[in-house]
Amino acid sequence: MSKIILTGDRPTGKLHIGHYVGSLKQRVELQNSGLYDEIYIMLADAQALTDNADNPRKVRDNILEVALDYLACGIDPQKSVIFIQSQLPQLYELSFHYMNLVTVSRVQRNPTVKAEIAQKNFEQSIPVGFFAYPISQAADITAFEANIVPVGEDQKPMLEQTVEIVRKFNSVYGPTLVEPQILLASNTACLRLPGTDGKAKMSKSIGNCIYLSDCEKDVHDKVFDMYTDPGHLRATDPGKVEGNTVFTYLDAFAEDADFEKFNSPYANLDEMKAHYRKGGLGDVAVKKFLNAVMQELLGPIRARRQEYAQDLPFVIDLLKKGTEQARAKAANTLSKVRRAMCLDHFAPDGLGSHTGS
Ligand code: ATP
Ligand code: MG
Repeated sequence: MSKIILTGDRPTGKLHIGHYVGSLKQRVELQNSGLYDEIYIMLADAQALTDNADNPRKVRDNILEVALDYLACGIDPQKSVIFIQSQLPQLYELSFHYMNLVTVSRVQRNPTVKAEIAQKNFEQSIPVGFFAYPISQAADITAFEANIVPVGEDQKPMLEQTVEIVRKFNSVYGPTLVEPQILLASNTACLRLPGTDGKAKMSKSIGNCIYLSDCEKDVHDKVFDMYTDPGHLRATDPGKVEGNTVFTYLDAFAEDADFEKFNSPYANLDEMKAHYRKGGLGDVAVKKFLNAVMQELLGPIRARRQEYAQDLPFVIDLLKKGTEQARAKAANTLSKVRRAMCLDHFAPDGLGSHTGS
């Protein structure tokens, strides 16, 4: 069986370092491994509109921003197909058919949907499209016959729901759809990177982000404003590392080699943590080190991004070509789905072929 990847992002803002460690970094590694037959990366503008219906400009403007972030991080359009979701009507049709296979109470139980409804204060006024987005996500994944979906941990319930839809579809209409598997980052700090405010998740919609495109000064200022251990008032106080966002970021980003590179007195993160726990290591010193690590990672990404931003016609053209390629793939799956559901009425064995007269 072919190895096919589908993943993507909502163009609701520029991408941030949570996206990088949660999914983007891994996508680039998978892409460059040469082990995958097809890789599709989706700009989920239609999904972004489910909770931004009154702000279409924001969604449009962020399509190019996210595409630039992809290219800056090393997504190679020769190896990965980057496409725009809304330009594939096949995805809307698949969603429509899958809606019959999912109950309202099942979506209501989806923990990510629940958390996002609370976060967006939608309790009394949930848009139907937003409520149904796990179903449209199943359409996106299955349209590409993807068996590998590299995403952040918040997407786990979406993948579970997709697998249920695939099984239900195949049991009702016969084997048609491919069952996907989630691929999470192996480093647990990367699964759901917290925001700089220490909140549960760095998220474009909350605005607690360090963006891949932030300038050097913004990265520095955000790092130095970060939440640490509120009980660690003086450098001499013993400090907590667990739940301390600065250390969570070091878990996600720092490598042993960085300690030597940036002249740290510690050989590795464990030694630094031990000193912080014991007392005698101030937040400023830890933040200085984190800032050095972040600047080293983000500097080249920012520079590449600026280069691509000089040539937007090139970026638009690759999105157009990618979208055409993706549309052909989705159309192929949709025709299999229609056939399985007895919706290929005008095929030779369609309408009238089983009347028995
Ligand atoms: P929005 O607030 O509009 O939902 P978002 O920041 O959650 O934006 P998405 O476009 O929904 O970003 O998510 C894109 C991908 O990045 C998904 O695979 C998601 O799991 C992953 N991701 C998003 N935020 C984080 C994070 N803080 N840590 C790890 N992975 C993340
Ligand atoms: Mg999200």
